[in-house]
Amino acid sequence: SLVAGVVAVQGDVEEHASAIERTAESRGYEVDVREIRESGIVPACDLLAMPGGESTTISRLVHSEGIAPEIVAHVEAGKPLLATCAGLIVASRDAADDRVDELELIDVTVERNAFGRQKDSFEAPLSVDGLADEDPYPAVFIRAPAIEAVGSADVLASWDGRPVAVRDGPVVATAFHPELTPDSRVHGLAFFDNEAAFVPSLENTVR
Ligand code: GLN
Repeated sequence: SLVAGVVAVQGDVEEHASAIERTAESRGYEVDVREIRESGIVPACDLLAMPGGESTTISRLVHSEGIAPEIVAHVEAGKPLLATCAGLIVASRDAADDRVDELELIDVTVERNAFGRQKDSFEAPLSVDGLADEDPYPAVFIRAPAIEAVGSADVLASWDGRPVAVRDGPVVATAFHPELTPDSRVHGLAFFDNEAAFVPSLENTVR
C-alpha cells in the first residue's frame, strides 16, 4: 500500500491524515498514514503533507528534530508534498519573518496573517486550476498567509486579487485548508494528478 506522511510536530495533523485516507480510498488505493515527529520516517514515504498550525513552531521543530533536510530530499526526489497555510509558510522561499527558517521548496514570498487583519477566518468558493471538475472549491481560510510574489511557481487559484494556491514542481501549496473540508479534490491534485510529481509505490501500477 501507499505510505503517506503527515508532518506532525504541531498543527491540524488528524485532519490531513483523514483527508489523505479519504482521497486514497476514493481512488482505490490502500494507504498507511504515518505521523512524523522525528527523523527517519520521511524517506519511506511516497507522499507528504505539511499542515496548518503555527509556522514559527513548525519551522523550529522540523529543524531541531532533523526532519527538515528529509522533507527537502523528498521534494528533490520528485515526490509530492502538499503544504497548507502554516505549511506553505514553512515551505516558501521567503516568509519575511526571522522566526521562520524557510525550506525554500516553493518559489514564492509570503506574508503571514495577511488576510487575518480584516477577518480572522472565512470561506470562499475558489476556482482552482487542475481539479477533477470545475465546481468551485470551498476554501477555508484561517489567519491565512498571502502570497505576495511568485517566482517560478504556477498560480492555481487567486482570491481578492492575490494568489492562494500554487504549484512548484512536485509541491502544491495553499493559503487555505483543504484538510478542513470533505472535498478531497485538492489532495487528489497534489498527490495523484500532478504530472510533475511521482509516487514510487504507484510506479508499477496503472494510475
Ligand atoms: N497564522 C499562522 C502562521 O502564520 C498560519 C495559520 C494557519 O495555519 N491556519 O503560522
